Amino acid sequence: MTTKTLESLRALVDPATWFYYEVAPGSRSRQCDLCPCIMYFGKTPKGKSTPVDCDAPGGVRPTATEPGRGVSHFKTCPEAKHFSGRSRER
Ligand SMILES: [Zn+2]
Repeated sequence: MTTKTLESLRALVDPATWFYYEVAPGSRSRQCDLCPCIMYFGKTPKGKSTPVDCDAPGGVRPTATEPGRGVSHFKTCPEAKHFSGRSRER
C-alpha cells in the first residue's frame, strides 16, 4: 500500500485550516532524527517548545532577523508515532 512520506504528509497540509506556530528570529534548526525534515523550534500557546516544520505549505523559515512559521512536525513526520514519550529529548 501507500507508504507515508514527509512529502505525502506535507501534501495534506491546508494553510487555511492548519495551526501555524511562530518561530522566533534566529531560531536554531536541526534535522529530525526520524526523517529528512529540517525542523525549527517554536512555542506552543502554552509556552512549550515544539518541533515546527517550516517547509510545509504555508510555512516560512525564520532568518536571523525575521520570524518564521510552520506546522507541528508531529503532524508531518512519517515516524511521528515514535515521538510519544520522547518529547523532552535534549
Ligand atoms: Zn520527522
